[in-house]
Amino acid sequence: MLSDYHMHCRPYSPDAHDTMFDMAAGALERGMTHICVTNHIENCTQNPEYPDTFLPFDDWAALWTDYESVRDAFAGKLDVRLGAEVGAPHYLPEEGRRIYARPELDFVIGSVHNLRKARDFYFLSYPEDFENFRPAVELYLDEYIQLASSGMCDVLGHIGYMQKYMARQGKGFDMMVFEDRLRELFKVCVENGVGIEINTAALYDALGQFLPQPEVVKLYRECGGEIITVGSDSHCRDDAGKGIREGFALLQACGFKYVCLYKNHKPEFVHVANR
Ligand SMILES: [Zn+2]
Ligand SMILES: [Zn+2]
Repeated sequence: MLSDYHMHCRPYSPDAHDTMFDMAAGALERGMTHICVTNHIENCTQNPEYPDTFLPFDDWAALWTDYESVRDAFAGKLDVRLGAEVGAPHYLPEEGRRIYARPELDFVIGSVHNLRKARDFYFLSYPEDFENFRPAVELYLDEYIQLASSGMCDVLGHIGYMQKYMARQGKGFDMMVFEDRLRELFKVCVENGVGIEINTAALYDALGQFLPQPEVVKLYRECGGEIITVGSDSHCRDDAGKGIREGFALLQACGFKYVCLYKNHKPEFVHVANR
């Protein structure tokens, strides 16, 4: 059993290169048994000051038709489910709740890609002295604390997202310097039945590490966290399922016995040894 619960496809994710069918085919080739397709929905982070945010998504009929054909084409070989990666749904709660309630979605990743009225961390240039950036990371973690109690997502996406882009600029920090805030965050997660994901994309980027970093995954477990998914955050066929085996190894090293699949926003716990 190997599950990749974070991937994007075209045309729904503007930054993706391949179709849903091709992503499923790529995942199957890499040995996946379960996937969830999680396209970007940035309806809650529209910011007229920075038009680089993806356009709002609302073409559910096309997405569902596409999904059904892929699900059926791979039936018996690969379990394909439909989810979404929603950018900061709690920034626009009414819309965030509307998306979460869509009957098409089994699973929602809540991801903070940008602070309120700020650009995606992807676009920032980072200061030489981390102390000048520390307040932004504190705000970022506070947003996750709010998101975790919002009822608008099932797991928190790639905690430490900016570390990926800082690394590209030769900068970085240890997320564990925010241990107190992380403990607070994970307490809120456990109380609300919200999980985290191990995102493997930055393993193959300048950062060379999982997000969140392994010490943070371990801290989540120490705080009583049990709900966890693994995702490649792939945007092309060749990356589908990439790093998932490594992510499962990290899970086990951190003391997790189960990985989660999702149906109708409910986690299904699958023993990680069953693979
Ligand atoms: Zn993301
Ligand atoms: Zn993603």
